[in-house]
Amino acid sequence: MSSNIRIIRICQQCGNEFEARKTTSKTCSDACAKKAYKARQRSGKVEVSDQQTLQIKIKPIEDIKAQEFLTVDESAKLIRISRRSLYRLNERGELPFVKLNRRTVIRRSDIDRLFDRPAELLEKSRPIPVPLVDCYTMKEIREKYSISEKALYDLIQRHEVPKQYSGIYAYVPKSRIDQLLAPTLP
Ligand SMILES: [Zn+2]
Repeated sequence: MSSNIRIIRICQQCGNEFEARKTTSKTCSDACAKKAYKARQRSGKVEVSDQQTLQIKIKPIEDIKAQEFLTVDESAKLIRISRRSLYRLNERGELPFVKLNRRTVIRRSDIDRLFDRPAELLEKSRPIPVPLVDCYTMKEIREKYSISEKALYDLIQRHEVPKQYSGIYAYVPKSRIDQLLAPTLP
């Protein structure tokens, strides 16, 4: 028993209209069916090779993560910053370098610790605009001007004195503090 319903489809291979014998037909002819099949196989292979490429790219990072001691290059790769930035972190006392013979290695745990710091501190550890010799630490100010920690904190906030950080210490420009706290000459 044949039905009178004609099923008109668009061939997915050549784009021509065709009368399909089955509702599932996707191509107009055997030739197009073969071409479509080959194309599917090809794209399957591309997918596999893309995945392999991705694996090759990811693997070194996984290897680095598994190690306890890293070279400067590996550390830079791991956190995606330049070698220069790594050296800068070291100079600021934020990332210890370990010297083994003549090689510089970095403990992965020290790298992890970089990311444990409060965001506020990370934000503030930018290159220092005023040389540290021209700065006071909080302790120095308290000793020189006999000011309480709270009063000093308020003063710095109120006058927006720029704070700089080196290692764990905060520094403020001497000139600003002297201006605010030194007794004015009559
Ligand atoms: Zn076709």
